[in-house]
Amino acid sequence: MIIMKSDATQEQITEVVKEIKKYGLRADVSQGAYRTVIGLVGDESKIPFDRFAILPGVKEAMMVETPYKLISREYAKLSGEESQHRIIKAGNIEIGGDEPVFMAGPCAVESKAQLFKIAEGVKMAGAHVLRGGIFKPRTSVHSFQGLGAGGEEEAKEALSWLREAGNKFEMPVVTEVRGEGQVDLVAEYVDIIQIGARNMYDQDLLTKVARKGKPILYKRHFGAGIEEFLSFTEYMVAEDNKDIILCERGILPLGKGKSYTRYTLDLAAVPAIQKETYLPVMVDPSHAAGRRDLIFSLSCAGIAAGACGLMIEVHYNPVEALVDGQQMITPDELKDVINTCQRVHKAIGPRRNNN
Ligand code: PEP
Ligand code: MN
Repeated sequence: MIIMKSDATQEQITEVVKEIKKYGLRADVSQGAYRTVIGLVGDESKIPFDRFAILPGVKEAMMVETPYKLISREYAKLSGEESQHRIIKAGNIEIGGDEPVFMAGPCAVESKAQLFKIAEGVKMAGAHVLRGGIFKPRTSVHSFQGLGAGGEEEAKEALSWLREAGNKFEMPVVTEVRGEGQVDLVAEYVDIIQIGARNMYDQDLLTKVARKGKPILYKRHFGAGIEEFLSFTEYMVAEDNKDIILCERGILPLGKGKSYTRYTLDLAAVPAIQKETYLPVMVDPSHAAGRRDLIFSLSCAGIAAGACGLMIEVHYNPVEALVDGQQMITPDELKDVINTCQRVHKAIGPRRNNN
């Protein structure tokens, strides 16, 4: 990391960036209110920091040991920028701002009528963002894979419904991309691109999605430690996209015998991650619980832990749903969840857990 003097000129900054490139690294220039800090993307051990420290305009040049630095609070603080939190805009919604944001909708888009009925229901319940899966990650090849699996025309049609429903009910929309080949198409239609838990480790997918410059909803893998999750987040920030919403959605349950939940919601991860990074953290109680009778409790707990919002699966008749019916709640139940969570949020105060 190179910290420039507060009176460093643009030419001096440009010179330092040029020098960094000579060593095969990339530079992330963060121009804060008081000074400029240059983060290094690549193998820092190649950099002769002593030599950089005496370049004109440089205040300090040092190696940063953490595997994630561009998203760290420390780095942001040095440049006097983002020391508190990053607010991400999607349509007219602010994620990571003063109010919790609720993303809701079906697990999978099944038809135009199904999507529009659910969109209307979640809007009435107070949701801010509409979700709906078109490319579904499924364990079995024999299960419904989402309408996107039908081919490009079917994918386009389903994506256009999602866009249309978002426009009609005035909600930005989010859907998952499961592979690099889907990124260009999905980015044309949605406001937020989701990277699912199973793809948390797919570096090439992360890079490709980040380059679209749109907000990203990035889910933690069910076997990933917090450091790994944050380290992989850095792949996207290295592409100059800092609009990343991190999402805790449960890790693998422990022990023998019956598991009473689909995953174990790691609520401590929420404030723990917030201590490390200025990026907003959300909670998905639906995939964590895997059962609808726990959604209310886990939602309240997620907001109490300091989450900036929730992602919840909703269907007007969950038993009819082709995917994840067992964890879906109805729009009426969502309304109760949102109202109560808003009260919980008020009670704990905004960003209680942030540094
Ligand atoms: C989803 O949100 O549709 C989903 C499949 O979630 P996850 O990637 O967390 O399993
Ligand atoms: Mn689902």
